[in-house]
Amino acid sequence: MATLGPVSRDETVLRGLVRAGVDLFRLNLSHGTQEQHRETLRRVRRVAGEENCHLPVVLDLMGPRYRLGLIPDEPRLLKPNQEVVLGREEQHADLPVDPEILEHLQPEERVLIDSGLIELRVESKQGDRVQARVVNGGPIKTRKGINLPDTDLPFEVSEKDRSDIAFAVAEEADYLAASYVGAASHVEAIREVVSAAGGRIPIIAKIERKTAIEKLDEITVAADGLMVARGDLGVEVPLYTVPVLQKKIVAAGRLSGKPVIVATQMLESMIEQPRPTRAEATDVANAVFDGADVLMLSGETAAGKYPVLVVETMARIIQEAEDYVRQNNEPPKLQPLGPVHTRRTYTLDSVDPTGAGTDVTDIVSAAAVYAAGQIGVRRIVAFSQSGFTARLVARYRPPSPIMAFTPDARVARQIQLIWGVRPFVAEFQVGSLEDIVNVVERELLAAKLVVPGDRIIILMGHPVRERPLANLLRVHLIRQL
Ligand code: PGA
Ligand code: MN
Repeated sequence: MATLGPVSRDETVLRGLVRAGVDLFRLNLSHGTQEQHRETLRRVRRVAGEENCHLPVVLDLMGPRYRLGLIPDEPRLLKPNQEVVLGREEQHADLPVDPEILEHLQPEERVLIDSGLIELRVESKQGDRVQARVVNGGPIKTRKGINLPDTDLPFEVSEKDRSDIAFAVAEEADYLAASYVGAASHVEAIREVVSAAGGRIPIIAKIERKTAIEKLDEITVAADGLMVARGDLGVEVPLYTVPVLQKKIVAAGRLSGKPVIVATQMLESMIEQPRPTRAEATDVANAVFDGADVLMLSGETAAGKYPVLVVETMARIIQEAEDYVRQNNEPPKLQPLGPVHTRRTYTLDSVDPTGAGTDVTDIVSAAAVYAAGQIGVRRIVAFSQSGFTARLVARYRPPSPIMAFTPDARVARQIQLIWGVRPFVAEFQVGSLEDIVNVVERELLAAKLVVPGDRIIILMGHPVRERPLANLLRVHLIRQL
């Protein structure tokens, strides 16, 4: 996934990114105007049509992001042990901040400025003036970001986020990324705004706060996907815990069949240089080994010097790592599906609101993966309204490619977020089981994805007319047509 920005939103670079291997794009709503993002989004859709591929767009909401106000004599140097007063802009305090911060900050809590480079500790509070002492000093500048890892902040969907959500609904964005969520209720609050705006957009919860780590399980249930947002996470929790947290977040997503994105500084040095560091190349490969669905580029493709080269480089490293995983393939360890809040998973129209049937789908999906390992099949085909079955198959990272047949172009785009799944839009008349087999066989032969004599597995729901979740596994030998 590539973040689009000033160096990549024109059509030539955008097309270059797609040809170099980008499967989906992110637009960061913390920067730029809606007008600009609308234009970029439409351009992505146009290029997808011309390049004949499905390119989902993730709109990344700004969330409750705090920043310093105006520092008139910037850059001002803060020295260790110095006392500073935080107050409102109009109070002319040493450090102007948002009134909300002043309300919730408590003694002993840390105030981190500029990605944690500068650290203050609160000593006392008089009304809305907060006295703090500098622990780590440095230069401060207007509008630098503030992180409050120890503070219990209420979560509210800001006016800006509400307006951006309405924009996302109007433009039919494929995913929203929710910044700084700390609990399941925060994801739900965003989902309510989406639905009040008349839309249904799946939500990726960005895990970048300490409380989000503490409530990872409930957030995983509430969200449709997760992001290991290592940039802010590395500020909010001790940096040395981030590698292990990455593994835990990826595992949480896999258990519940929710896609996980690993993000930030993956090839950071390529913002300036045409070659990554060895450590970055290894980090990219390790994210693959951890089992991530998607690796994300931020500044590298949004504002760097070599956007297309970065994608080519990342694609090569991923390819090499995946080949290694495939060659050293161990049979997948089957494990029962973790909690999924199917009611809140927006695409699952066909799912019983109580979640009934998901365990059966999990069992046939696991059986498909087991069978693929035992008898060797060319493709695992999930015949699926919503992509749910494809997700459950993908969580086992099977040796055979997964194809998801869906009638819905939007679902096809959204499936791009899932590991190893290729979407296939097919208009099918739901008739009998044999109709489904025939459609799959015909389409795969036409696309030259199978040849007669190949074995494939098809997962589908029966009785077909009622469109239930997949409950049936069929091993099919491709015939000569
Ligand atoms: P951001 O999120 O780039 O929107 O801050 C990713 C991160 O924090 O890592
Ligand atoms: Mn972030």
